[in-house]
Amino acid sequence: MVKEAAAPSTEQTSPNDRTLSAVGNIAVKCPKCREILYGRDLEKNQKVCPRCSHHFRINARERIKLLVDEGSFVEIDADIIPTDPLHFVVSPPNQAKSIDYASKLVEERKKADQNEAIISGYATIDGKPIALAVMDFFFMGGSMGSVVGEKITRAIELAMKQRIPMLIVSTSGGARMQEGIFSLMQMAKISAALARLGELALPYFSLLTDPTTGGVSASFAFQGDVILAEPGALICFTGPRVIEGFMHIKVPENTINSDFALQHGMIDAVVHRRELHQTLARLLHMYPTITK
Ligand SMILES: [Zn+2]
Repeated sequence: MVKEAAAPSTEQTSPNDRTLSAVGNIAVKCPKCREILYGRDLEKNQKVCPRCSHHFRINARERIKLLVDEGSFVEIDADIIPTDPLHFVVSPPNQAKSIDYASKLVEERKKADQNEAIISGYATIDGKPIALAVMDFFFMGGSMGSVVGEKITRAIELAMKQRIPMLIVSTSGGARMQEGIFSLMQMAKISAALARLGELALPYFSLLTDPTTGGVSASFAFQGDVILAEPGALICFTGPRVIEGFMHIKVPENTINSDFALQHGMIDAVVHRRELHQTLARLLHMYPTITK
């Protein structure tokens, strides 16, 4: 039996990352080089540490803003709301109160001010149209529930209808276990939609960001015609904490990140955040020659 990735990651999220959405004058310590940074300066630098280039996690709206042409993004399917098909309840040991998924969803939707762990739509990059689906790690660790899968599939279908390329930005702790098989089925559904996109010779660009794990890395994240990743991003199927917990071995450092994936031919390029827009623009200018 395959084991899912490290738990969707509010646990993996450092306090620094979680405060970043509300920075400004707040001082933030870089988790890599320990430099104390002003939130405002970090914002100006696209949330990349100016000293060591550590790429902080950013939410889906921030990601879209830095990738596409200003003012060009049109969101679709924003009103699709997740449900609780299994009436899932967890009773954690040593805790008196059980946690039900339905309440958790209400809380997450309110906190994130969006309905799910993904934002989808269409936009232009350097004037070239593209459909895109951008995952959001700050909503339940970017876990892939039914709505996430449905919104990605619909964005791919939009790309097919409009005959435009597709971009998926992944960041995820894996499939959403609270939705069981409904969550796992999304892997096949999205993969089938991408296969249809491929039959039309429309390109699919995949961008892996920190972290891309579990059912997401095991399906659409690695099915791109071109696969890019941000520097230092955790990229794996099973996260190091789970491996260490089950196997009682220490996972060697730097063996589950984007550089390692590049060295071993799993991805095409590691691209600094400030160069992503330009890189995608170049790809979009190259690919139309082969579209039908
Ligand atoms: Zn740093």
